[in-house]
Amino acid sequence: MKILVVEDEPKTGDYLRQGLCEAGFVVDLARDGLDGLHLALTEAYDLAILDVMLPGIDGWQVLQGVRRSGKDMPVLFLTAKDAVDDRVKGLELGADDYLVKPFAFSELLARVRTLLRRGNKLKEPDVLRAADLELDLLRRRVTRCGKKIDLTAKEFSLLELLLRRQGEVLPRSLIASQVWDMNFDSDTNVIEVAIRRLRAKVDDGYEPKLIHTARGMGYVLEVAE
Ligand code: CA
Repeated sequence: MKILVVEDEPKTGDYLRQGLCEAGFVVDLARDGLDGLHLALTEAYDLAILDVMLPGIDGWQVLQGVRRSGKDMPVLFLTAKDAVDDRVKGLELGADDYLVKPFAFSELLARVRTLLRRGNKLKEPDVLRAADLELDLLRRRVTRCGKKIDLTAKEFSLLELLLRRQGEVLPRSLIASQVWDMNFDSDTNVIEVAIRRLRAKVDDGYEPKLIHTARGMGYVLEVAE
């Protein structure tokens, strides 16, 4: 995920860049409005963080330029000003969120993640479900009937795959390439063992049973009629 930060204050800019990089984002930092607008129009970003008071052109003008060009990436405003007018102006111009300086980095990160998630919402749900089984992709958590189920990383990936392709019989070779890796030998019984363990955790003691074996073909997760 790539983020554009436009901030003229060196300390704040470096702090943002470093924090966001450590959180796993790729960050471009512009020190004034014109550079910021130029980058926003020529590069592809998943989100922009704009300071309001900038040399050259201010954050409002950067945002206007971005929206005028048809780019709809989420924009988070940073400002020292806490006037209601500013918030209204920012939102009218198409800002998605607002953070008043000084702010805690954790707060900024939470807002950034929320905006990115909101942007992706239509493409992918946060929670995959079958009957009363829920797999929360963001919190990496699985529950059945509201009760938490502890899974290993491989079991989680396996269940995620089965849930995403619900109702489809998945051959072992496909499971092997998606959950293990391309060079994994799907003739071993590793997948069978993993399925058995997963089934014990997900289905034992619950109805309806969700994970089924399609003999000689593979495995399928479905809510049987
Ligand atoms: Ca500034």
